[in-house]
Amino acid sequence: MLLICNSIFAMAPTQRSRTTRLLEGAAALAARTWPLAARLLPERLEFDDTPSIWHAGTPGYQPRPPLRGVISADLAIIGGGFTGVSAAYHVAQRFPNHCIVLLEATSLANGASGRNGGLALNWINGIGTDDPDLTRKVYDLTSAGLVAIRTLIERHHLSVDHRFDGTLTLHTSAERAEAAHAEAEYLQGLGIPVRFLRSSDLRSRFDACGVCGATLEPDTGQINGAQFVRGLRPILEERGVAIYEQTPVIRIRTGRIIRLTTPQGEVHAPAVVLATNGYTSKLGLFRDALFPLHSSVLATAPLTPDQQQRLGWRAFAGFADDLDRISYGALTRTGRLVFGGGSNQAYAYLFNNRTRLPPESAVARRAQAAIARTLAGYFPSAATLPIACRWSGVLGITLNRQPLWGRWGEYKNVYYALGYSGHGITLANLAGEFIADLYGGDDSRWCWLPFYQSRYPPIPPEPFRWLGYQAFTRLTGRSPRV
Ligand SMILES: Cc1cc2nc3c(=O)[nH]c(=O)nc-3n(C[C@H](O)[C@H](O)[C@H](O)COP(=O)(O)OP(=O)(O)OC[C@H]3O[C@@H](n4cnc5c(N)ncnc54)[C@H](O)[C@@H]3O)c2cc1C
Repeated sequence: MLLICNSIFAMAPTQRSRTTRLLEGAAALAARTWPLAARLLPERLEFDDTPSIWHAGTPGYQPRPPLRGVISADLAIIGGGFTGVSAAYHVAQRFPNHCIVLLEATSLANGASGRNGGLALNWINGIGTDDPDLTRKVYDLTSAGLVAIRTLIERHHLSVDHRFDGTLTLHTSAERAEAAHAEAEYLQGLGIPVRFLRSSDLRSRFDACGVCGATLEPDTGQINGAQFVRGLRPILEERGVAIYEQTPVIRIRTGRIIRLTTPQGEVHAPAVVLATNGYTSKLGLFRDALFPLHSSVLATAPLTPDQQQRLGWRAFAGFADDLDRISYGALTRTGRLVFGGGSNQAYAYLFNNRTRLPPESAVARRAQAAIARTLAGYFPSAATLPIACRWSGVLGITLNRQPLWGRWGEYKNVYYALGYSGHGITLANLAGEFIADLYGGDDSRWCWLPFYQSRYPPIPPEPFRWLGYQAFTRLTGRSPRV
């Protein structure tokens, strides 16, 4: 049996179609042109700047000044999202005398960590298994990750809007609902507390149209990632971490001592953490491993009790559906409905790994119209709700949807945790524990993970990447995966 509970942005692997096999073959051929493409098509370092509703929850936040001059550190972390901040937190805790520097191109949580759907979920994307031991281990790991998020919020009294009263996976066909029911029973047999809810049981609490049943994961929930990441900044600084925002790393030169070049400075360090997720290829690394996919999101103004009543959403922090072009939604404690995904148009891949989707572009406008339509399909009264904020963010997508975790380089001194494929809130927050263990020379807690230090299915260079994405999504209505 395949575990599919709440696999946001990922469905259980299905049988490969002829189209998929054909495209895979073409991709392997196209990959031979990498040396040429890498030289002819340099990538541009760019970032979304439209604030999300989560950013609006950190009013007055001021990024720290950029790095000026040449400095040395024991460990330099590139990227200030969940992964980078979590790495800084755990390494600083474990090695209080080490000099740690965090370099963030714009401001903390300006990437996916402050632009997501907010769902803190169980499970790891891309792992479909019928092995009960592996199922239990993955569940225990991500469940510990959820507890760790809540513990951090409580320990440091972080002002983070959150609720952990469970999330749903909505099943949109009777057949899939039946399979999900059987799966929920199987998981319960392993001691995993998921529950299947029939549509008749669901309706009084969550009345979405076209739903044939749902799987409830009671310990999952929803957080404001921008408040979480930015709230940790003073804690890191108290622990001696030097944080430079507005500091893009524009060049990385590997070696026993790694040199990171920024517009006004340089960092020399014997070890570096790549916490750059969907932006990683800009540094010339992992270019064939993951690609940036834009997902658009909207948030309503806080709903009145009457609007919430009419909406039919009376319980649970959030949901995702069981479709390949997944829809995801959350209802915050302050009564805002946050929603994204749900169709080909709601997601976009831009030529040559562009990582900024201008909000005024036709692609962004089409995406926003598409997500509004999908939302109204689930909740008809949502069509008239006041929209307070629209934005998009960059996911780091791998072809098999598994993350990329490990150490890289001749001296194995580049630590990386990337490619969560849209399911990273829990895992990216665990990544810091992983990196601290590896940095300390002990991988025993992690070496069973199927994606640890593993090979990945390669993605071809441009122009094949863009053409392949367009062809695959239009022909199949699905997102490219192997
Ligand atoms: C629209 C959207 C919806 C999502 N919904 C969910 C969800 O509901 N649940 C879930 O679990 N996951 C979701 N995700 C995925 C989740 O948000 C990510 O997996 C997670 O935030 C990844 O964290 P990160 O720190 O690795 O990457 P990011 O948050 O992207 O952080 C990377 C950081 O690196 C910085 N950076 C990049 N390049 C450089 C450079 N050269 N120099 C310096 N800094 C650099 C960037 O500015 C950025 O701040 C969603 C993502 C998006 C975009």
